[in-house]
Amino acid sequence: MKILVAVKRVIDYNVQVRVKNDGTGVEKENVKMSMNPPDENAVEEALRIKESGKADEIIILSIGAEKSQETIRTALAMGADRGILIKTDHDVEPLGVSKLIAKIAEDEKPGIILLGKQAIDDDCNQTAQMVSALLNWPQGTFASKIEIENDSVLITREIDEGLEKIKVKIPFVASCDLRLNEPRYASLPNIMKAKNKPIDIKTAVDLGVDISPRIEQIKVEEPPVRQKGVIVSDVAELVKKLKHEAKVI
Ligand code: AMP
Repeated sequence: MKILVAVKRVIDYNVQVRVKNDGTGVEKENVKMSMNPPDENAVEEALRIKESGKADEIIILSIGAEKSQETIRTALAMGADRGILIKTDHDVEPLGVSKLIAKIAEDEKPGIILLGKQAIDDDCNQTAQMVSALLNWPQGTFASKIEIENDSVLITREIDEGLEKIKVKIPFVASCDLRLNEPRYASLPNIMKAKNKPIDIKTAVDLGVDISPRIEQIKVEEPPVRQKGVIVSDVAELVKKLKHEAKVI
């Protein structure tokens, strides 16, 4: 069984994101980029499933600029087998990404597709759900545990009320939560080995998939600067401030 893992190259989570002066987006030039954090959990989970003997190949898929190859290489250095880059010159919306993942899934026929629960740059949390709908496969989102049985899988999901367990049939799509596992670091020998692992480069046109944007972004702006807080000495002072300064009571 093959496992397809979708990984996105995003601005590193430690970077203070800056909005461009013209409001057309955020600065990405000379900014540290990394693999979207929950996608690392997806790669780690795929490796664990393969190591348990339940899968025999892990394919890493990324959609983005040429440099997304670096993100694919990171996953290959962790232990994945080969990569596919779908090269694009502009950001692709979740629907376009989902259509491309679904197309690759039709060609490669994996039993499992793993994604991150959410990309930290667009915060969409849409792709896994749309891939599942496009392929008509079952889905388990926000997975914090994945247990493969024979032809089905038990997925534990983190929900507001606690933990929900669902059983779905293979093939399935899962989006991975940060609590799913602890992603491994790539060892030096594995980083060297990853340099020789194949990455197939395609375009949406090669695949016959329409990824033209359907959303018009009007403007990106910094959130308003938060006002400095004050410490009040007692409840009476708090009530006075709420009444006369904040005018909320
Ligand atoms: P989103 O729906 O945009 O929050 O993204 C959810 C997940 O979809 C991510 O964690 C990735 O696993 C996958 N994904 C989104 N965009 C891409 C992309 N450009 N390339 C590969 N995977 C992606």
